[in-house]
Amino acid sequence: MKFVDQPLSEADSTVFDLCRAEERRQLEKIRLIPSENYVSRAVLEASGSVFANKYSEGYPGKRYYEGQQVVDPLEELAQSRAKALFSADHANVQPYSGSPANLAVYLAFLKPGDKVMGLALPMGGHLTHGWGVSITGKYFQSIQYGVRKDTGRIDLDEVRDLARKEKPQLLWAGGTAYSRIWDFEAMASIAREVGARFVADMAHIAGLIAGGVHPSPVPHADVVTTTTHKTLRGPRGGMILCRTEHAQAIDRAVFPGLQGGPHVHNTAALAVALKEAALPAFRDYAANVVKNAQAISDELMARGYHVVSGGTDNHLLLVDLTGKNVSGKIAARALDKAGIELNYNSVPYDTRKPFDPSGIRLGSPSVTSRGMGVAECKQIAVWMDRVIANPSDDNAEKVLGEVRELTGRFPAPGLSR
Ligand SMILES: *Cc1c(COP(=O)(O)O)cnc(C)c1O
Repeated sequence: MKFVDQPLSEADSTVFDLCRAEERRQLEKIRLIPSENYVSRAVLEASGSVFANKYSEGYPGKRYYEGQQVVDPLEELAQSRAKALFSADHANVQPYSGSPANLAVYLAFLKPGDKVMGLALPMGGHLTHGWGVSITGKYFQSIQYGVRKDTGRIDLDEVRDLARKEKPQLLWAGGTAYSRIWDFEAMASIAREVGARFVADMAHIAGLIAGGVHPSPVPHADVVTTTTHKTLRGPRGGMILCRTEHAQAIDRAVFPGLQGGPHVHNTAALAVALKEAALPAFRDYAANVVKNAQAISDELMARGYHVVSGGTDNHLLLVDLTGKNVSGKIAARALDKAGIELNYNSVPYDTRKPFDPSGIRLGSPSVTSRGMGVAECKQIAVWMDRVIANPSDDNAEKVLGEVRELTGRFPAPGLSR
């Protein structure tokens, strides 16, 4: 049993080497995938803590296992920090991730066959808001709204007309590729008018809301769901905030409705992330995330790129490459070779297939967490343009050299060198 006390490098050098290789990759690349980030050293440390050894089915004070003397105050700490940060009545910090958090909402409020309405996936929505291949589109009747073709924005009159006609029982706000401010108050009034529950999924923008640069859905929504690992910069996980009247239904839906024991090491890391998100420095980070996304967007538009909706209010942008005569996939692959990592993505009303779409999606959270600013973001857009204009390996190699020089000057949080 000697191996149980060996460090990873000795116990399993293969996995150790893969960890180091990923660390190097995250250091050397310009990471622009908008759902990704760098967590702090403290968050990383807490997520690798001994809480990974503990089972704690149930909630503080009502557990099905003994030995909760430490876990109970930890979970209560995470709950109270979440409630304080987002001014919420109730917080459930147990969902394993964003998708299970959303499923818990369905379980709390609906029966199979009931009607839900959300933003369609190809229009920037999330799978779990009723898209056909998801359980949420298979077990429920799903109505999907979109964005306008001419503006790339959600048209609240269209949403209201559709909701009046279809009378969904649940209305979702939130998305994964929508770069504009959500009018949660107006969405709530549409839901109220048709007798639907209103759920805001702030997965992408939770950090911007915590940092005060996007309006909060909490005063308007019955329930707010989120991931904890995107702009919020916590561990991989999910969280649900709600009004007191829904607390019991939500808690029961998460456990025992959907999950067994919570991942307590993630609860520990989430508590740390929530403390960090309440610091004044986090407000600067959130403001800089938006400034940086706008800098990339402005520079690309100045170079003739079509940014969907004409820009961004948040951390991400969607670029339609149709006019540049290159597919999203070819552009994304060439950029990856140049050390710039993002994802190919459908654009609204895309005429190409989802696996080979017309656009790319990118964002600023990771580069902002490294301390890069507007000047660096403009430079990144210049490199993107150079690679997209000539996506050959040779050209990508040339840009890669310059990318390495930049990333070498900006250490990444939580990563040693
Ligand atoms: C990322 C995301 C989710 C799902 O989160 P996972 O942790 O990947 O399951 C749900 N909703 C929205 C809007 C998201 O952006």
